[in-house]
Amino acid sequence: TRILGIETSCDETAASVVGCDATGAPAILSNVVLSQIAEHAAFGGVVPEIAARAHVEALDGVIDAALTEAGCTLADIDAIAATAGPGLIGGLIVGLTTAKAIAAAAGKPLIPVNHLEGHALTARLTDGLDFPYLLLLVSGGHTQIVHVSGVGRYTRWASTIDDALGEAFDKTAKLLGLPYPGGPSVEKAARSGNARRFAFPRPLKGEARPDFSFSGLKTAVRRTATELAPLAESDIADICAAFQRAVTETLADRVKRSLERFRDEHPDLKKPVLVVAGGVAANQAIRAALDALCEANGFGLVAPPAKLCGDNAAMIAWAGLERLRHGLAEDDPLSFAPRPRWPLDQAAAPLFGAGK
Ligand code: ATP
Ligand code: MG
Ligand code: FE
Repeated sequence: TRILGIETSCDETAASVVGCDATGAPAILSNVVLSQIAEHAAFGGVVPEIAARAHVEALDGVIDAALTEAGCTLADIDAIAATAGPGLIGGLIVGLTTAKAIAAAAGKPLIPVNHLEGHALTARLTDGLDFPYLLLLVSGGHTQIVHVSGVGRYTRWASTIDDALGEAFDKTAKLLGLPYPGGPSVEKAARSGNARRFAFPRPLKGEARPDFSFSGLKTAVRRTATELAPLAESDIADICAAFQRAVTETLADRVKRSLERFRDEHPDLKKPVLVVAGGVAANQAIRAALDALCEANGFGLVAPPAKLCGDNAAMIAWAGLERLRHGLAEDDPLSFAPRPRWPLDQAAAPLFGAGK
């Protein structure tokens, strides 16, 4: 089976071919990601109109490149999977409409995919992980802990009550005058900083509810940056280091609640697994903190390679493949409308999606 995946929900124009042999073992045959960073950098963030136009201009070439790199043509493809939401409406329309056109013209099935399901199932592509597992999804627009019990079977256990973690990184970077996208900039600056210089808050730490909050942290950064202005390079490094330290400690405290719940609900599992996914999962300090947390609690940690944490189409192709082989195709995919908002737990499909 070979699936062509298309991803255009934010500022990456991406296409990929993912295949699966008779044993079910997956292979990424190509994974083309064209980032629009240069187009948006001057504005310090993603500008929706610019993003949509850039997707229109780039998508055909990116799809051609993905097919060529995979050594195949449309005739060798069994189905087209495209991100149908959540994300910026302009980009979603471009990707989904293109996918519909290709599917209709080539007579192939179309599989509309929830972008978050792509992030959620990546660990099965990279590590062949079995269900159930606990998912920490940390990205530009989402921060959630999700119980994953099957394809299309997601239960949210915790969410952020304000900013997403990626958003907190991006806003912190912007405040400090660091380049977009903020996550990698903050991580880089933090490497030479002194995390102990500032005592930033650990929002919700110690509370029984399992949720996240990051806006207070961002406010503390703003206050410190204002007090110290004009900022020396060492000030920026110290703020980033203290911010990242606060983030890792907060995450560890919050995630621990859900590890305990997961263990209670699955006493039979010898080595339960936490998966970290989404763009922020590329952060080395966060991976290290989660690794230590899992180690201390008898969990295994699965973190996909950085390239597959950020937005890409291999995860969309893979989610499409998983839907296809679990019989979770939409009845009328050519009429499927893009969904700018689309919670992962509503990507759920009929109950026959159970199992591995
Ligand atoms: P969503 O997946 O929620 O719809 P998105 O697709 O825009 O949002 P991703 O592409 O999955 O988000 O992740 C992008 C986010 O990841 C950005 O906020 C970016 O700053 C953050 N990020 C990327 N690399 C790092 C890093 N090394 N450290 C921290 N954050 C990072
Ligand atoms: Mg992006
Ligand atoms: Fe994403």
